[in-house]
Amino acid sequence: VVTKSKVISWLDAAADVFEKKQEFLTDLDREIGDADHGLNMNRGFRKVKEKLPTLADKDIGTIMKNTGMVLLSTIGGASGPLYGTFFIKAAETVMAKEELTVTDLYHMYQEGTERIIARGMAHPGDKTMVDTLSAIVASLKARQDDPLSSALAETLKAAEQGMKSTIPLRAAKGRASYLGERAIGHQDPGATSSYLLFKTLCDVVD
Ligand code: ADP
Ligand code: MG
Ligand code: MG
Repeated sequence: VVTKSKVISWLDAAADVFEKKQEFLTDLDREIGDADHGLNMNRGFRKVKEKLPTLADKDIGTIMKNTGMVLLSTIGGASGPLYGTFFIKAAETVMAKEELTVTDLYHMYQEGTERIIARGMAHPGDKTMVDTLSAIVASLKARQDDPLSSALAETLKAAEQGMKSTIPLRAAKGRASYLGERAIGHQDPGATSSYLLFKTLCDVVD
């Protein structure tokens, strides 16, 4: 299982990852957006990291919900409301829990992703974070009977494929959609941050 302290370590480590990858994500967003995705993710998760010590005695659902509220109020742009929604809605599936199984992770990602789709109207293949997230959901769904470590390892591969699948696509949603054919050949920034977030979970649980 993923214990509560691992969930806290995940979010804490995510802040460090997004600080380290700020330039990389912003460079991706410079190609097909407005060059701020790294800045946005770093700002949001730095605030989450600051808030984590006050959440240590709360259940996983409450920790996730607070994370979403911080992201919603600090990231801005397109990705702020989307990541905020993701965590707030994922939280509802794990309220009062102190540890998570593969099935819990599946329910979290499923609900969070569904609400991102409802809010942003992007579907798989539209060259957004939904391409990575829906790959994660499908993989977790199929691996609920597997041991945690192999379920995560296999799902990380699926997430990477989801991220890379955005490269040859045109964008149907977000700023990159204004570029038409010129978005082809570039990896989507949000699909990349969603991959990094999941990879951080795998690294922490490992
Ligand atoms: P902004 O585009 O407002 O500057 P960011 O740069 O932080 O916001 O985030 C851009 C990312 O948000 C894109 O790479 C894409 O993955 C994601 N995104 C944009 N619009 C949508 C949408 N409608 N649904 C899902 N994801 C979206
Ligand atoms: Mg941007
Ligand atoms: Mg912006």
